[in-house]
Amino acid sequence: MSPWDLPDFDDHEVVHFVTDRASGLRAVIAVHSTHLGPGAGGVRFWHYAESGEAVRDALRLSRGMSFKNAMAGLPLGGGKAVILAGPDRAKSPELLAAYGRAVDALGGKYVTAEDVGVTVPDLVAVSGHTRYVSGLPVADGAVGGDPGPHTSYGVFLGVKAAVLRKLGKDSLQGLRIAIQGAGSVASGLARRAAAEGARILVADIDADRARRVADETGGEVIAADAILSAEADVVSPNALGAILTPAVIDALRAPIVAGGANNQLPTPAEGDRLHGRGILYAPDYVINAGGIINVASEYLQDADQAGVQARIERIPERLEQIWAESDATGRNPAAVADALAIKLIGRG
Ligand code: NAD
Repeated sequence: MSPWDLPDFDDHEVVHFVTDRASGLRAVIAVHSTHLGPGAGGVRFWHYAESGEAVRDALRLSRGMSFKNAMAGLPLGGGKAVILAGPDRAKSPELLAAYGRAVDALGGKYVTAEDVGVTVPDLVAVSGHTRYVSGLPVADGAVGGDPGPHTSYGVFLGVKAAVLRKLGKDSLQGLRIAIQGAGSVASGLARRAAAEGARILVADIDADRARRVADETGGEVIAADAILSAEADVVSPNALGAILTPAVIDALRAPIVAGGANNQLPTPAEGDRLHGRGILYAPDYVINAGGIINVASEYLQDADQAGVQARIERIPERLEQIWAESDATGRNPAAVADALAIKLIGRG
């Protein structure tokens, strides 16, 4: 099939197929839009069963970054890279150097950062070959570093905004928050919500992690297959994508779904299904933008820590805008967010 006919092809500005025989590098760098600024997004190091999947991932994820960066109010477009892992393509200094040169050759059209399978030391290696990289170690007190706590903060504020809108309460005091995942984003959310008096229900396939978060927050561990249908005021997915399947949506008992996991809706139809059930949904790429806001501020060097915090504190405002338009038009919030993002990147 021609690349232009792929279902995930969405008028991407540039798609680079990179091969470096010496290091074994095989990568796809997709820049979806540079309308608002350089296409920014992480690089994933992943073993794909077939290379077409890598192309689809790069196309889909780079479009997602255009939407996320636009809705976060950042002067950045959307891009994403995938490096194809394989038995003959192990991560090595040579491979990372070749990747850095490939990013550099784009002259700043794409800015790379961490994603699944890529660590901070990997990025340090990449940064030896290009300056178009963010998410590097920073000095104490400087903007940058681990995006997780910033994502958690934004998700916490988004949960509060959803609670205010749906339940009319301006505090999480006494509410039950069911959190899927007990990792970086989830644990930060759990701590903040518990500090405000929420009752935490937490599940993770790693039982020790779930136990630690429950102990720390005075919460309760729930079985991983029961968390999304738990009786709660808020369900907050903070583990995997594509979890809001029709069956899961039909079993939800919470009136709100608001969490940081990427790509929670397997298809746009699930946005309608949630809406049809009267469940308030916080579009994932809007509520989870705290991390990218921090990464962007590091790269652009245009804010101090207070400035980053102030930008994250605007996430509830954007959610409010989406929910208000959803109420006014009857369209589901995920569809409203996509339409707003498309307009912001000049394709409305
Ligand atoms: P993490 O790896 O720290 O934590 C994820 C946790 O989910 C792990 O503890 C894992 O064991 C658990 N998990 C996996 N499958 C599960 C299942 N079926 N049921 C319950 N738990 C399960 O990751 P993170 O950084 O906290 O990210 C969580 C989610 O948020 C991901 O979807 C990520 O893409 C998204 N996100 C993260 C950031 C960030 O700044 N870290 C930013 C935006 C979006």
